[in-house]
Amino acid sequence: MSGTCCPQPTTPEWTVRQVIHRSDWKDTTRVCPTCGESVDLMCGHCQVELDRERTPPPGSKLTRERRLLAFCDEECATLWLDAD
Ligand SMILES: [Zn+2]
Repeated sequence: MSGTCCPQPTTPEWTVRQVIHRSDWKDTTRVCPTCGESVDLMCGHCQVELDRERTPPPGSKLTRERRLLAFCDEECATLWLDAD
């Protein structure tokens, strides 16, 4: 058997839309993906907005998928973005 490797279905890369500092956003708590600290979205934190293309399911016209991440600060956001 010689290398007929099935191509993996490629997952489109997430694109960073923006990294912003915000507070007073939502009355909820998230866990920072970098350090695992809980992030109170009503207090100052760093929000990263990502999106990527997606294959829309039949009947849907949504071709972009959006994702918001909350980090405790810019340092954690930078570490997470650089890690990829
Ligand atoms: Zn953190």
